[in-house]
Amino acid sequence: MSLAERSRQAVWHPCTQMKVHETFPPRAIVAAKGPWLIDQRGDRILDAVSSWWVNLFGHSHPALVAAVTDQLNTLDHIMLAGLTHPPVVELSERLGQLTGLGHAFYGSDGASATEIALKMSAHSWRNRGKAEKNEFVVLQGGYHGETVGALSVTDIPLFRQAYAPLLRLSAMLPSPAFNALNESIDALERYLAEHHERTAALILEPLVQGAAGMAMYSPEYLVAVRRLCDQYQVHWIADEIAVGFGRTGSLFAHQQAVDPASGQHVRPDFICLSKGLTGGMLPLSVVLTTDAVYESFWDDRVAQGFLHSHSYTGNPLACRAALAVLDLFAQRDVLADNRVAAARLSALADPLNRHPAIRSHRQLGMIWAWEVDTSDPTFAARYHRAAMEEGVLLRPIGHTLYFMPPYVLTEADQAHLVQASVRALDRVLADQPASGAQTWVPVP
Ligand SMILES: *Cc1c(COP(=O)(O)O)cnc(C)c1O
Repeated sequence: MSLAERSRQAVWHPCTQMKVHETFPPRAIVAAKGPWLIDQRGDRILDAVSSWWVNLFGHSHPALVAAVTDQLNTLDHIMLAGLTHPPVVELSERLGQLTGLGHAFYGSDGASATEIALKMSAHSWRNRGKAEKNEFVVLQGGYHGETVGALSVTDIPLFRQAYAPLLRLSAMLPSPAFNALNESIDALERYLAEHHERTAALILEPLVQGAAGMAMYSPEYLVAVRRLCDQYQVHWIADEIAVGFGRTGSLFAHQQAVDPASGQHVRPDFICLSKGLTGGMLPLSVVLTTDAVYESFWDDRVAQGFLHSHSYTGNPLACRAALAVLDLFAQRDVLADNRVAAARLSALADPLNRHPAIRSHRQLGMIWAWEVDTSDPTFAARYHRAAMEEGVLLRPIGHTLYFMPPYVLTEADQAHLVQASVRALDRVLADQPASGAQTWVPVP
């Protein structure tokens, strides 16, 4: 039996209607190097979505491999309650220096970072004698993970429908990615003016709403968010899980929002990081927060503390991978190199931009997106499969085709990416979708 067939039977794949794999089995990948995945036959596939947006510097980057290997031979894992270790201390200090938020709480994946930030925000208000501030506000199209708490602040109906009875839904505000900037700011102001006494925090993805289809908006919105959250005493949680670590052109996306009054970039009350944090090597997430939030838990009473934990909190191997990522950012100007690489890929992408089936396109940092003119509900699935046959891993979200590649594509890799994408597009548009087919690849 093939590996793919064994996988279909024994592995329940994420975000997948498993029946689809009866006709289209998962591709078995046996190795990866740089931006390339290598399958069982030795065929190479360019990882143009950074393996679900986690990979920054390519697979098995030598610096990350060396750091994790060294750590593996020294200290593999210990619990972080009552104990500490060098990698977690150094990582927390360095993330504090980079963000100005000097208190780091760790989890293992993005959704757990969302849970931590939500709980910490509401508990902080409770410790301050404002227990009624326990509701959350989110943006339309926002995505913050899929555990029950994170899903209650996520606006992707397909992900939410079946679990609606389990969720305590949050208020949904117009997103500046889909509405005029001023209208979005006014809506936020009106909401907070009326509901601030019950609102703990606003959670959002700065600059790019990934799962909504790489929907982009102006940093000006974040300046208004900071002002209104200060005015109405509401925490601002910046979910930088997908957009952190240079993805949007700055080290963190919120740093592009400069307050004209101070000339400084705005600072959230909480920052959630994961995905690129370890360069895509190991699961790790962290919530960074302010002195004010930290101090609201500082007390002689145990119950005033933040009594939250995950078994693998602060795993030393993952922290070492994250430190190696920060070293790569420190050793060379990754953001400047990315600007050159992005300009080159944008120029190469001209045939895609001008393709008759493309309605519009947009780009920010190392994210490119195209709206495809098609009414086929199976477009994303068919495109994904056609692209695989052309040697590139792409998973459109609905009718939005996007690239979110590792930062290390050579010019030849970039040319392959664009040419394969155009060929896949032509093939998908030339083929008629199978009638009645529901075999679509889910978002994202
Ligand atoms: C991926 C993602 C999450 C969830 O992270 P997981 O590791 O998949 O749980 C949360 N927020 C954003 C913005 C994401 O892109």
